[in-house]
Amino acid sequence: MKNLDFFRQELSEFSKRAFHRRLVGGTGGNLSVRIPDTDTVLITPTGISLGDVEPEENILASLDGEILDSPREFRGSKEAGFHLAAYRLRSDVGAIAHVHPPYATAYSNKGSSLPLVTVSSRLNLKHVPCIACFLPGSPELRDCVIQGIENNPEVNSLLMKEHGILTLGRDLKHAFYLADLVEDTAKIAYIAATIPNTISDTLMPPP
Ligand SMILES: [Zn+2]
Repeated sequence: MKNLDFFRQELSEFSKRAFHRRLVGGTGGNLSVRIPDTDTVLITPTGISLGDVEPEENILASLDGEILDSPREFRGSKEAGFHLAAYRLRSDVGAIAHVHPPYATAYSNKGSSLPLVTVSSRLNLKHVPCIACFLPGSPELRDCVIQGIENNPEVNSLLMKEHGILTLGRDLKHAFYLADLVEDTAKIAYIAATIPNTISDTLMPPP
């Protein structure tokens, strides 16, 4: 049986992986995990890099936002509101990753869905809609995430305009893999868009 300490450890491990994979920089982003068979989640603290989060620094909160265990001086993520709302809306979601990867965030600036340019992205992501831009931590952003999930009940990933991405996983490993795939897909889409349609385009002068 996995206990709270297991999830504290796992949350720190995937936070560090997200940082070292460069899915997020500075003190941005936040990850969370639902504690199975409870109405509680662990979420990374605000004001500290995901690359530095130690297991005991993660915050335990109830699904309605009450802080149950907040060691040291840390506060729960300022974006905890949309994590908790997503768990309340989707009982199938066991973990959430919110990160700011460069290619996917650049695509979010267009305000449209991520182009799914590979077979694997179409199979695993299906559709990655883009939601509007509001100030990080604001009730407007939380409400916009809620609306994005309600309007797209099948999605596991969202672009957040001029901000980053949000992935909804079965568990932390799944949420991390989704974020990794969203960023790789955006990078491939960008590279593909810079390559001429045929090799001959680069060799033959225009008529
Ligand atoms: Zn953010």
